[in-house]
Amino acid sequence: MTTTQDYDKIVWSSCNVNCGSRCPVRLFVRDGRVVRVGPDNTGENVPGAHEIRACLRGRGLRHWVYSKDRLLHPLKRAGRRGEGRFERISWDQALDVVAVELDRVLKRFGNEAIFRMYGTGNLGGVVSSRDQIDRLMNILGGRLDLHNSYSNAQIYHAMQYTYGQKETGSHISDLANSRLAVFFGNNPAETRMSGGGTVRDLILARQKSGVRLIVIDPRHTDTAAGLADEWIPIRPGTDAALVNGLAHVLITEGLVDQHFLNDHCLGYDQATMPEGVPFNNSYKDYILGSGPDRIPKTPDWSAAITGIPAQRIIRLAREIGTTKPVYIAQGWGPQRHADGEQSARAICMLPILTGNVGIPGGNSGDREAAFGIPFPGIPVGENPVKASIPCFLWTRAIHDHHHMTALNSGLRGKERMTTPIKFIWNFASNTLINQHSDINRTKAILADEKKCEMIVVIDNMMTASARFGDLLLPDAWA
Ligand code: SF4
Repeated sequence: MTTTQDYDKIVWSSCNVNCGSRCPVRLFVRDGRVVRVGPDNTGENVPGAHEIRACLRGRGLRHWVYSKDRLLHPLKRAGRRGEGRFERISWDQALDVVAVELDRVLKRFGNEAIFRMYGTGNLGGVVSSRDQIDRLMNILGGRLDLHNSYSNAQIYHAMQYTYGQKETGSHISDLANSRLAVFFGNNPAETRMSGGGTVRDLILARQKSGVRLIVIDPRHTDTAAGLADEWIPIRPGTDAALVNGLAHVLITEGLVDQHFLNDHCLGYDQATMPEGVPFNNSYKDYILGSGPDRIPKTPDWSAAITGIPAQRIIRLAREIGTTKPVYIAQGWGPQRHADGEQSARAICMLPILTGNVGIPGGNSGDREAAFGIPFPGIPVGENPVKASIPCFLWTRAIHDHHHMTALNSGLRGKERMTTPIKFIWNFASNTLINQHSDINRTKAILADEKKCEMIVVIDNMMTASARFGDLLLPDAWA
């Protein structure tokens, strides 16, 4: 244990891991080196409120700072792309490489060939952030833009089609007013941990209401293991089928909130179907099997898909249907699949069917709401390039841009892509490799240097993505 003799001073810093909590940490420094990382157990940061104690990731920052994988000098690729062989060069040499390559690509292909990769590794950085790249590119005539997010693109759009607005969740502290909580693939004990995270608000709210918490998740997560009253394991990606089975019980046993459905919803049953839709296409028809597919979504039907016994589905439906308020929320896991927007929308049907939307202690079925404060940053100006691709389609924009249109690829700002991506800025992002779906396919696309001709990585660690850089620039730790 570190004693008062073991360090010269304590300085405040923060954990920049993008978990959303951004905990303050205290660095114990001796001879210019961090010898220990301590949590905020002073209460100074939120006077009168609580201590924001960092989780183990934050307390392990010292190992990150002094890791052998830290990038400390500019490096230039010395082997094949992705091979991971680099040679050290000076900053002057590195900046010359960037300037020459940027100039070459801009002159040959134009500004739409330059892409700044999605990445949130240092989203709130002030000294160092992606804003600097955006500012530079805007001054130079712009860059191919991106929209959506790797985290929540499907639920983000699904909420707008379901409720007419994005981000519809109630804050987790509203569990203080709930009698039952049901989480689908929602795991704040691992994703938003620490005293600065959602999990603390969850614990405080439960202390007030004693709300019963059921977690539905394929994994026995920390939330399921440490906080839930009950864990219901489910086959991955089958949440919508579970909801269908629950809905079948709610409807056939008269447990739906018909007043809420009549007053606030379109499309539940034939009485509120929009004009022009063929008969028997309502939600109720779909669940009961009188719709086009003629399949009743019974608990047995649901059990065969989800792996959850039919009797358990019936019991859960009855508990949801006879309790109020119920706080139903989903994490971002259920929607992170092909067609994941359908899972997101299906889960929202539970609070809709039972009238738990818009009441204290209820929730829309969306992920719980979060709040934040705006970060200061440098002004970036306006991007003169109006073309924007969904962030997930950047590999296609490298090797198959000719076929990308507004209709088939969600391209914005123009009808058809005319320029492939030839230059990538990859700042504080591991999405080049780590986070992009079929990694072997992505590797093959990136390994072909005739496709994307230049990749500049700015990071503080030799990540899996950094290995695919042509030029690596060490980033500031701020
Ligand atoms: S919860 Fe953990 S990972 Fe997240 S900011 Fe705090 S210390 Fe870092």
